[in-house]
Amino acid sequence: MNEFELIRRFFARQPVSRADVKLGIGDDAALLYPPAGRLLAVTSDLLVAGVHFFPEADPVSLGYKSLAVNLSDLAAMGAEPAWFVLNLTLPAADERWLERFCQGMFALAREHDVQLVGGDTARGPLAIAIEAHGFVPPRMALRRSGARTGDRIYVTGTLGDAALALQHQRGNIRLSENDFAAVMPRLEQPVPRVREGIALRGIAASAIDISDGLLADLGHILEASKTGARIFLERIPVSPVCRRHFDEVGWETVLAGGDDYELCFTVPEKNITALEKLPFAGELHYIGEIEQDAGLRVMDAAGKPYSPSATGHDHFAGK
Ligand code: ADP
Ligand code: MG
Repeated sequence: MNEFELIRRFFARQPVSRADVKLGIGDDAALLYPPAGRLLAVTSDLLVAGVHFFPEADPVSLGYKSLAVNLSDLAAMGAEPAWFVLNLTLPAADERWLERFCQGMFALAREHDVQLVGGDTARGPLAIAIEAHGFVPPRMALRRSGARTGDRIYVTGTLGDAALALQHQRGNIRLSENDFAAVMPRLEQPVPRVREGIALRGIAASAIDISDGLLADLGHILEASKTGARIFLERIPVSPVCRRHFDEVGWETVLAGGDDYELCFTVPEKNITALEKLPFAGELHYIGEIEQDAGLRVMDAAGKPYSPSATGHDHFAGK
């Protein structure tokens, strides 16, 4: 199978066909109709075998996750996803692997009506780079820099399950079969909070998706907004499985484990009523407040400051 056959077989045939794509895969560039009066949100994420995932990882999950992490970035901007581009280096044209990779990737693409419009393919060590494009009305984009003193801090869903699954995979802890089955999908197939991100337009003052752990990512909001914050451990949402393994893994897994792909956002007092009316209000957790003094203060159940021993994932830390 040569490069062109590979592209034709696996990427040119695909499930999503959008009206705003004039020309998709097959020419020197795609031709797209950006909607009038919208900002184009552009994001990209690189996944490298041996760094971001195990080389023998399930290709279905890998295809899904490669797109999911990009949709999560668009969600964190309040953008509606539309198009994506796939750059791939492969050690070999393994048909079975490609079929399964596409199965996972296109399943999520279909769910969100995002169309693959191009890319590049080369032989090399396994790496996957997706660039995704979405739309957001001007002034409605959710930036990291919008947090203000007095805003409430929220997170969607629960935190720590993906990091728990990873610890099990690495052999650091031992989960029962049932517990592993409960948390593994959070690591392999995280659900991007696209619907939530769009609904938070005009309500949230700032937002970020949690990829490197709550402390690190909330830290980015604080830095960009030039504010500080106080969060309360007992308010941080964790799943029953995660809670059961707390003695072994501690709060660090929840606070700094990463790979959650939940949204962390801040809401000014005046928008709380609107927030509480959202259809998914039940899945939102109020975990603390933005404060004027710089720094992130973590308080335990007794109201005492808690000092986490880890703060989050950083590719270049200590190098
Ligand atoms: P060029 O030589 O102009 O870079 P290619 O032969 O690399 O063109 O690609 C041919 C067409 O296939 C282009 O439209 C390109 O966008 C698309 N394409 C190549 N690789 C991928 C991929 N991994 N996913 C989606 N589209 C791809
Ligand atoms: Mg090319």
